[in-house]
Amino acid sequence: MSRVLVLNTGSSSIKYRLFDMGDRAVLASGLLERIGEETSRLTHWTEGADPLVVDRRVADHQEGLDAIFEALGSSSGLSAGLAAIGHRVVHGGEQFSTPAVIDDKVVEAIRELIPLAPLHNPGNLLGIETARAAFPAIPQVAVFDTAFHRTMPPRAYRYALPRDLADRLRIRRYGFHGTSHAYVSREAARHLGRPLAEVNLVTMHLGNGASVAAVAGGRSVDTSMGLTPLEGLVMGTRSGDLDPAIVFFLHREAGLAFDEIETLLNQESGMKGLAGANDMREVERRAAGGDDRAREALDVYCYRLRKYVAAYAAVLGGVDALVFTAGVGENSHTVRASVCSGLECLGVRVDDARNQVRSQRPRTVSSDDSTVAVLVVPTNEELEIAEQTLAAIGDRRAS
Ligand code: ADP
Repeated sequence: MSRVLVLNTGSSSIKYRLFDMGDRAVLASGLLERIGEETSRLTHWTEGADPLVVDRRVADHQEGLDAIFEALGSSSGLSAGLAAIGHRVVHGGEQFSTPAVIDDKVVEAIRELIPLAPLHNPGNLLGIETARAAFPAIPQVAVFDTAFHRTMPPRAYRYALPRDLADRLRIRRYGFHGTSHAYVSREAARHLGRPLAEVNLVTMHLGNGASVAAVAGGRSVDTSMGLTPLEGLVMGTRSGDLDPAIVFFLHREAGLAFDEIETLLNQESGMKGLAGANDMREVERRAAGGDDRAREALDVYCYRLRKYVAAYAAVLGGVDALVFTAGVGENSHTVRASVCSGLECLGVRVDDARNQVRSQRPRTVSSDDSTVAVLVVPTNEELEIAEQTLAAIGDRRAS
């Protein structure tokens, strides 16, 4: 009974990974895309075999999970030895500061949080309900993106809004990408050879979505995303921080409805809005080819990030390491170099040769005379969810 299946269910896609928790090995993984569209695609990987690609219409999540369970069943005998299923849930609101073993009450609580995460929690919930129906005897655990940031103090999570209104509507900063910030914090401390409780870190999760966190002794004390994942850094398609009056301005001057503005800020802005491409590799290619918009977009992206890093160094009262992770953070040496240039005043010095080394392992890219270590630590949100899932059912069995 040492297998854990991790499900990350979105509105039109399901990502999954099956772990043998004995040695943390990935037995199988995959991605089902375009659920509900004309043709959906299931790509399924199993250890040591060619990927299996199935193109056919998958009408809904129920059918989608059936197809995934079938692929897992035939490739790895899924339910044999399945100890638990771990679900990524984006918004855990104020209720959830730790993973929750799923029962009807937890399902209702996640449903109740839909107004706070209308783009994410409904998909997550569908995954939970479908998996519970398929495997009623297997414990299931919800692991929340927000949970790691529940340690933020009020000065970090309060917006300066009328208190009663904000409290009634649960408007506050929650933060996201918590499993990733938690995972890379632990790995960074391990790489530094120091106890997590003794290090101050600024962790940068730079994927399509992007956020930065100030982590003091393993606890999140501030992070750049807020009530929703829209706040903070410039992202692939999200604007990040804006003057909130821009929303009213767009409504009045461009005649946009509020849901159109929501789409504009979430899906048409960020690098896509600035450079015409949300994929950082493409933006870098265009910049290298002399495209001024792409160059400026990269400048805006790195400048915003640099400001957050310096602000969080102040929040922490000194920082031991900067940690880069996720697609852009792990792969783009130019973004890392650009973010760190200008931070010499904090004692940050990047070593060019080390910074350009490519590797799947945690590594140091700062020079020996840098007083702040600069690290690249590959994230593994699925493994973190699997570990937390196993710990949660272990806790329940023990209690
Ligand atoms: P998410 O999980 O949020 O979808 P990822 O962590 O996979 O995202 O990161 C996706 C981003 O990483 C994309 O913008 C992609 O362009 C970028 N990326 C991946 N590889 C590289 C690379 N070699 N150089 C620069 N950016 C990269």
